Amino acid sequence: MADGFTLKTFGDLLDHGYKLSGYCRGCALHRYIDLTKCPAGRGYVGARFKCRDCGGGVEITLSQIVTSNGAHLPALDRWRNR
Ligand SMILES: [Zn+2]
Repeated sequence: MADGFTLKTFGDLLDHGYKLSGYCRGCALHRYIDLTKCPAGRGYVGARFKCRDCGGGVEITLSQIVTSNGAHLPALDRWRNR
């Protein structure tokens, strides 16, 4: 419990600033998955999503939301200082 960072459930993803997107092969469409509508206590690993249009399986991708404060671009800073 004490070692901090666990990403197991939809709630964890939300707490730690992650987002999930899904890709449907059938529709060739990317969609963001609204984590606030997912059961917070449920593990996302192995969770299955269905496309609302074709009912096909959706592949989920996990990515981290980068905040404007957190976004650090050293190369850009160097450029500015010149
Ligand atoms: Zn689809």
